[in-house]
Amino acid sequence: MFAKVMKGIVQYLSPINRLGKRKYSFFFPLFSILFTFIFIEAFVQIILKNPDAVGLLAIFIPIALIIYFAFRDGLKGGFTAVVLTISYYFYIIYSREHSGEQLITSLETTGVLGLLYFLLAGIIGWLKQTIDKLIELEADERRRFQAIVQQLPVGVIITDKDGAIGFVNRRANNILGMKIPIGFNVMKGVFVKVVESKNFPTSQSLLGRALKSGKTIISEELTIETESGRKVYIEASASAIRNKHGRIIAAAEIVSDVTAQKEHEKRKDDFVNMASHELKTPITSMKLYLDALARNSKKYDREQINKMVTSVRNQTERLQKLVSDLLDVSRLQTGKLSFQKDKFDLAKLVEDAVIELRAFAPEKKITFSGKIAGKVLADQFRIYQVITNLLTNAIKYSGDTRDINVRVKKEKKRVVVSVQDFGFGIAKDQQKKIFDRLYQVMDDREKTFPGLGMGLYISREIVRRHKGQIWVESEKGKGSTFFFNLPMSG
Ligand code: ADP
Repeated sequence: MFAKVMKGIVQYLSPINRLGKRKYSFFFPLFSILFTFIFIEAFVQIILKNPDAVGLLAIFIPIALIIYFAFRDGLKGGFTAVVLTISYYFYIIYSREHSGEQLITSLETTGVLGLLYFLLAGIIGWLKQTIDKLIELEADERRRFQAIVQQLPVGVIITDKDGAIGFVNRRANNILGMKIPIGFNVMKGVFVKVVESKNFPTSQSLLGRALKSGKTIISEELTIETESGRKVYIEASASAIRNKHGRIIAAAEIVSDVTAQKEHEKRKDDFVNMASHELKTPITSMKLYLDALARNSKKYDREQINKMVTSVRNQTERLQKLVSDLLDVSRLQTGKLSFQKDKFDLAKLVEDAVIELRAFAPEKKITFSGKIAGKVLADQFRIYQVITNLLTNAIKYSGDTRDINVRVKKEKKRVVVSVQDFGFGIAKDQQKKIFDRLYQVMDDREKTFPGLGMGLYISREIVRRHKGQIWVESEKGKGSTFFFNLPMSG
């Protein structure tokens, strides 16, 4: 308690503590100086009992007070001290009843000292106020800098010249998935868990290297693991910062999260691999059949040849479908997919598709229901593509179950088509993603199905561009129902 009070008093009295605050008091100097002069008077009059002994005391103590208050309270404090001191001098001259020669000398001395005191208070007070202004300016500058850096879309970490972290923006904490410790010294190691980095040992921090070498390190890629165990791909650059004399005064690092980019790249690579595989398989099998036939066609009877030719035709169709899907995806990406719209009966189109696919998958029992009056204005060919895509998926992903139900109904000025199967189903967290480009559910059982994850993406884009909606209701292991709707025309 006592220590606290003492600390409070020292802080109040200390001029250093008030630097940069621009608080200049008037009453504190006034009263404390008055009190000091009364004390001096009492001391010489009552204790020393010699009024003339005031001489040196009346010089040194006021000088000390002027310096102190000019430094603590600027021009206001300094000039208050000077005015009070001169007044005190006049009081001394008056109360000691100086006269004649002595009076003149006293008045002259007071004049000269007064001038010197004003000069002293003026210089110190002005210096003090200038320093305050500079400090405030720098604080403003720092605040402005921090406000800007906080808004940046990249993470920023700044250390002092010795490597102690002094500033971190929120984004840096978010990207690295932790609260970056202020004060941590980057020369001593890394504060994140680096799992992998291309060009340097994972125990060295980028900032530490930048400080040590004095160079800029541009766009290093590293993989880190956040506190919650998530893997994040980072791209980071660090640089030593120098003042105008070339001396290193700090280091700064900029980090950005490139995880999404990396994953996209990986999906693209996977896609190229899978696409090559998907294209190669039918070609290889076709070549085998054709080679056999070319070598010795007489070896085979009519039935065998028919089988081979049918197989080759099926593979050709598979290839054709793949290539046209690839083309569609590319057209969608470049905005070059165009539609030829006309009015037609959607229910009829769905029924046609069902009839065609029944022949394609005789092992399934595909039912159709729904007769509605009302047409849609759409591209028949493209909508047929959507329906067959949903149907082939239902066939593909229904496993051993037989039933597939197709329904068409009217719902508020829209025609809704649904395709229901009782097969594998889709987990909740995958249900949105399956409509993304090149997305396939990676599940051991389903990996064996050929496909590139283009069908639902193409379907979604076609439906969307007809002002329709497409969605799925599904439960893992129980089956799925895919829906899409289109606005009725007229
Ligand atoms: P592909 O069938 O070529 O893989 P799609 O875009 O048609 O591509 O489908 C994307 C993914 O959605 C499929 O890989 C599959 O995992 C899942 N899927 C689509 N339809 C069904 C369905 N009826 N039942 C279960 N999963 C489905």
